[in-house]
Amino acid sequence: MRDDDSLEVSLAFKAYRRPFAVPVRTSRGLWTVREGIIVRLEDGEGNAGFGEVAPIEAFGTEGFAGALAWCAGMRGRRRVDELRAAARGRMCCAAAVAMALRMLRRVRAAATESAGAGRSLPVAVLIPRGEAAVDAMRRAADAGFRVFKLKIGIGAFAADAAAVARLAERLPEGGRLRLDANGGLDVPSAMRWLEFASEWPVEFVEQPLPADAERDLCRLAEDHATAVALDEAVLGADDIKRWRDRGWPGVFVVKPALAGEAEALLEEIRPDPDAFVFSSALETDVGMAAGVRLAFEAGVERALGYGVAGFFGEDGLGGGLRAPVVSGETVSAIDPARVWDSL
Ligand SMILES: [Mg+2]
Repeated sequence: MRDDDSLEVSLAFKAYRRPFAVPVRTSRGLWTVREGIIVRLEDGEGNAGFGEVAPIEAFGTEGFAGALAWCAGMRGRRRVDELRAAARGRMCCAAAVAMALRMLRRVRAAATESAGAGRSLPVAVLIPRGEAAVDAMRRAADAGFRVFKLKIGIGAFAADAAAVARLAERLPEGGRLRLDANGGLDVPSAMRWLEFASEWPVEFVEQPLPADAERDLCRLAEDHATAVALDEAVLGADDIKRWRDRGWPGVFVVKPALAGEAEALLEEIRPDPDAFVFSSALETDVGMAAGVRLAFEAGVERALGYGVAGFFGEDGLGGGLRAPVVSGETVSAIDPARVWDSL
């Protein structure tokens, strides 16, 4: 029982469709348009909270069409506990409802203090592959970024590793790399990458094997000095529990927009915040602000994976951090109503 369980809220929503500036490669092929839904929950007194449904089916979430149908079925007034119960099992809808309720709670309480007040977190930036990579990293380093994320496992190992080494040699003081394979390697090539990574300042190799290769992922993580991170293999609290039970010794990348109920997620993170990276699901400012707030609340220290501003054109919906450091105040200043009004 939570204190707002019996509160009645009405749900409204608006769908959006944003083409990527550059198509995103996923395990299911090229992704060209991001579709999502902004959800607005209003109490009877004109207070509103916003959340965002930003599904990524390649990660095993519900699809956009199903989420849209769910929102349509939830339109109108109902109790908060009923809405929460109806969202259960739909990771993105549950995440959106939780975000909106958390904001609504703050608005109703006229809360002035922000999660992360007086604090800040570093931001990791994604560096494009190919010719542009060295210049892109230099520009980002000049702007103050120190954590650079690279996609690996797309080309042959030798060429790919040479390209990564070229960047690693040019890292600024204190700089480090995150290497993300998006589940695309097999065991021998994952081992080669982990051996390679141990010679450079690599924070972790992310999702080297497919999400269901649980035993091999655990073995890789145990056998190598470089940390291994799970991304595609982990959505929310239940997945984290399952991997913990298996003795997972590595890092968890969580995308709050795909993680279901925020409270359950926070509970799993609390015992060991150092093991967690908060990351973008390529959502708008609505989901991003909620996710970064949650990162402050969770007490994580690792760089946030929200340096993804280049994925979209200037359509006013935002969604990526452009600076190397984000403060609690910066996040609190983001107004989700602006995104809602612009749709
Ligand atoms: Mg990833």
